[in-house]
Amino acid sequence: MTDVKHMKWWGWGVEGVAFEHEDKPGFAPFILENLALDLHTATKVGMPDFDGVTVAKSLATPAFTKSLSDIVGVSNVSTDKMERVVHAYGKSLRDLVRIRANQIERTPDVVVYPETESEIQQIVDIAVAANAVIIPFGGGSNIGGSLEPLRTEKRIVISLDMGRMNRVLEIDSDAGLARIQAGALGPDLEEQLAGKGWTIGHFPDSFTHSTLGGWIATRSSGMQSDKYGDIADITRGLRLVRPGGTVVIRPIPSASNGPSVREMILGSEGRLGIVTEAWVQVHRVPAKRDVYAYFFPNFETGLRAMQEIAESDAAPSITRVSDNMETRFSLATSKESHGVTKFVSGTVLPAIFRSKGWNLDDICLSFIGYEGSERHAKLQKKLVDRIVKKYNGMGVGTGPGILYDQKKFDTPYIRDFLLDRGAAGDVSESAAPWSKLLGLHDGVVKAAHEAFDKIGRKGVIISHLSHSYHSGACLYFTFGFVFGKDALHDYDIVKSAIQQAFIDNGGSISHHHGVGLEHAPWLEDDISATGVSVLQGLFDSADPKGNFNPGKVIAVPGLDQGNSGSALKAAAAPKATAVPKVTAAPAPKATATAAPAPKATATAAPKATPRRPAAKTAAAGQVAKAATTNSAAKPNSAAKPSAAVKPSAAVKPSAAKPATAKPAGKTAAAATAAPASPASKPAAAKTAATPTAAPKRTAGSAAKTKVNAAK
Ligand SMILES: Cc1cc2nc3c(=O)[nH]c(=O)nc-3n(C[C@H](O)[C@H](O)[C@H](O)COP(=O)(O)OP(=O)(O)OC[C@H]3O[C@@H](n4cnc5c(N)ncnc54)[C@H](O)[C@@H]3O)c2cc1C
Repeated sequence: MTDVKHMKWWGWGVEGVAFEHEDKPGFAPFILENLALDLHTATKVGMPDFDGVTVAKSLATPAFTKSLSDIVGVSNVSTDKMERVVHAYGKSLRDLVRIRANQIERTPDVVVYPETESEIQQIVDIAVAANAVIIPFGGGSNIGGSLEPLRTEKRIVISLDMGRMNRVLEIDSDAGLARIQAGALGPDLEEQLAGKGWTIGHFPDSFTHSTLGGWIATRSSGMQSDKYGDIADITRGLRLVRPGGTVVIRPIPSASNGPSVREMILGSEGRLGIVTEAWVQVHRVPAKRDVYAYFFPNFETGLRAMQEIAESDAAPSITRVSDNMETRFSLATSKESHGVTKFVSGTVLPAIFRSKGWNLDDICLSFIGYEGSERHAKLQKKLVDRIVKKYNGMGVGTGPGILYDQKKFDTPYIRDFLLDRGAAGDVSESAAPWSKLLGLHDGVVKAAHEAFDKIGRKGVIISHLSHSYHSGACLYFTFGFVFGKDALHDYDIVKSAIQQAFIDNGGSISHHHGVGLEHAPWLEDDISATGVSVLQGLFDSADPKGNFNPGKVIAVPGLDQGNSGSALKAAAAPKATAVPKVTAAPAPKATATAAPAPKATATAAPKATPRRPAAKTAAAGQVAKAATTNSAAKPNSAAKPSAAVKPSAAVKPSAAKPATAKPAGKTAAAATAAPASPASKPAAAKTAATPTAAPKRTAGSAAKTKVNAAK
């Protein structure tokens, strides 16, 4: 049996860790007010019973399984039921609902764990010769339906798990590049890099349970992307195993060598082959890393400030501003009764807000991150503070930033907590130019509330800006509602309304979650019909028999009947101007997807091992209470009619962009503003790091790993 560990088969993260609300007094009132769900009386559904899970017989014949064992060894091939279930889905809301309801139409037939590129080449060659399907598996954390086999698939499906390939192989300290195996989870690779004083600087919220290969295959983005870039910027070279050979992209900083094959592989979701390793940019662990919190009088002002910061020489590592609803949510999930939470809940800060003429129902919380040498971070902050002041913002120190850092990897557990109580919580993100961001925000909030009305449920949608660029930014939305008898029916209506609103308001279908099955029906709206046909041509010629993760990114006509994305677009109200040409499959028969029958309460969701000592949180409760005053009217007021189409007032004419606008490299501006950092790369000659002994992938150790070694 392989020693690669995975997340819970039915939910996020590792056994023994779960979200708790008892120590966050503001949370229950927030949920009651916005979802009409009383957490004190809600019936709790427990962890589903694995014995009740049914899986079809594996199509992998003993002869085929033996041919895989001959390559990787018997212990690294499995047709075990748990293995097949764990590799069937990612961790989208749809995946979690289905797995809890024992709705697994198609699992992989066999799971294989290679250790070397040469083994992968052999697996690929025998699989393609046998016309089998190969689905690469990283951490299994995607939320785009990027992993599941098509339910109509009649061929053998192999899940190729990269978990044994988790080493940092080499560091070119002269160039600031590291060669890393694609199966390395975030904590695996960061630990090995930190041991030599380096960091990749890529910290998605799913960091603990996602891999380098998965990041590359989905075009992931981490919270410090403003400084380090998205994974598409960070990945300079890579190797991709294909039938009969390997694509080798050397780590060149920039090249004029025709259309970028590197870019074609980025975001390919396993459709072009298996990424075995990549050369990525790495940076010296910064001497200083601080996250400061600020308040702005309203979201529009906050957006304007973020734009000006993005265009300035400040070049911070994080720019993030929450809308008012998310600000309330952040305060409601706070368990510390000190720092800004206490401050806001008391009388002092609200009095200051009022004295400034601010309305508590409009205020927005922002986090800005500074990294580098002491002097550099100080200078960055000075430049930002000037801009914050110009937009009437107010700094409140590092306290909330520390809390944000502490809880960022715990937040994903909230979805399971809500599902246990019959409520859905999910996320969706889009990117747009600065000129469209406010309209996008308002349009999406409006569309979501219309969808909540359509399903007859009270729901909430909250949002923040993160990942700023020269010309625009990403808006990240989190939404929740209590579902009815058919959870996925309700979910499709809400999620598809949000996706459609992205397109209608000038945004992309996704900023960093990929396409998968879930977003594929909107791809044509995003990149045009001709754009899709170019992509289709690439997939058809590179993979004529559809052996590599078929149906993802672009739907395969006739093969994707009933899989997630096709149902979604069918649920969307079609817009006259955006006629989908990628035919949506008929909505699948409504299946009862309500939460499964609860097991005895004794088997309820595992109680979390407290990760930090519980703190008194009465103040947070007061905050939520105070903050929710007049909030009943809030969602509707956010959904201003015509806000979606009106040009954003937040936007300055592009002509006003200063000549100092941030260069594509993202870090150059900061470099000019700062003295040489002691943390900067040494001039030492290229040194090959001795490959560290491969850490075993244990989910527990991943969860425990300290992320910010620099702190
Ligand atoms: C709670 C939560 C928070 C999240 N936060 C973020 C975030 O902040 N930023 C972000 O970018 N994403 C985020 N995600 C989404 C997810 O973590 C990313 O999509 C991530 O990049 C997936 O990596 P993975 O290793 O888990 O890949 P998997 O889920 O295993 O696979 C994803 C896709 O990549 C393919 N793939 C995997 N490895 C390889 C390989 N070696 N070669 C070729 N193809 C491969 C798979 O076939 C599949 O199509 C979040 C998800 C959740 C559930």
